[in-house]
Amino acid sequence: MKPTVDTDICLERCLRSLAIRTQRAFTLIELLVVIAIIAILAAMLLPALGKAKIKAQAISCMSNGKQMGLAYLMYANDNNDYAMEPFEWCGGSVAAVPDAVSENVVKTSATYPYLSSVKVFHCPTDNSGLVYQGKIQLRNRSYSQNAQIGKASLYAQVNIGNGTYREVIKLSGLTRPGPSDIFLFIDEHENSINDSHFYAFRDMSKYTGEKWLDAPSGRHGNATGFTFADGHAEIHKWQDSDLHKVQISGGVVTPNSHSSFLPVPGPKDHAWFTNHTGAFK
Ligand SMILES: [Zn+2]
Repeated sequence: MKPTVDTDICLERCLRSLAIRTQRAFTLIELLVVIAIIAILAAMLLPALGKAKIKAQAISCMSNGKQMGLAYLMYANDNNDYAMEPFEWCGGSVAAVPDAVSENVVKTSATYPYLSSVKVFHCPTDNSGLVYQGKIQLRNRSYSQNAQIGKASLYAQVNIGNGTYREVIKLSGLTRPGPSDIFLFIDEHENSINDSHFYAFRDMSKYTGEKWLDAPSGRHGNATGFTFADGHAEIHKWQDSDLHKVQISGGVVTPNSHSSFLPVPGPKDHAWFTNHTGAFK
C-alpha cells in the first residue's frame, strides 16, 4: 500500500527529533550525578589503597629488620656467639649533622660487611631529615638496638641492678624468654632517635606512667617494626599508646631538640614492651 503524505511527514519529524535528542549535550544535573558517583566510588577505594600502602611499607620495613637481624646473628656466629652492644652495632648520632645524614657512619657498622647496603638501615616511612649543605637530607638510620642486649651501658645496668634483667654478653644467654621473644632492633620514633642505644624506661620493673625515654615509632599505623633475636621481624600494633604524633616541621628535625615531645605508654603497652626487652633474672 502506498503511504500517505501525512505518514511521510510524521516519519520525517520523528527521525529529526530522535537525531536532535541523540546529539544534545549532558545537562548540568546529569554531570553532577556522574561526578557524585565517581566521588562515591573514589571514597570507597581510597581507604583500601591507603591500607595497601601501609601494608606494603610494613613489609618493606620487616624486610629491612630481617636483613639487619641476620647480619647481627652472622657476626655473632663468626665471633664466638658475641652479642654486640648498640654502639658496636652502629656508631654516630642521627640527632645532628653531619653524622645524621652521612652514609659513611652506617658503613662503619660491624654488620655492614654482611649487608653491603645502607638502605636497610632506613625505614621507608621515615621522612624525618635535617638541613645539611642547604637542603633537607633524610637521616641515614631509622632503627636502634635494644640496650638490654650486649655489654650493659650505665643505663642498662639500672634494670640489671634493680633485679629485672640479666646482662647478656653472649646470644646463648637469651633465655627466659627465648630469643624469639626478645627484640634486637626497633624502628625508633622520629622525636627520640639519636644514637643507636634504645633505652625506654629508667625503671622497667613496674609501670609508673613514665614517659618513653626512647620511643618506638608509630609510622606503620600506630605500629612498630621489631627484629627479634632469633632473626624474625614483625610489626607490633600498640594497644593503649598513641605513637602517631610526630613533632617535626616539614619533615625537618631541629638538631638535638628531638625529645621535646615524647608520649606516655599505657599499662598494656608498657607490659608488652618490658616483657620483650631482656632476659629475666
Ligand atoms: Zn618501619
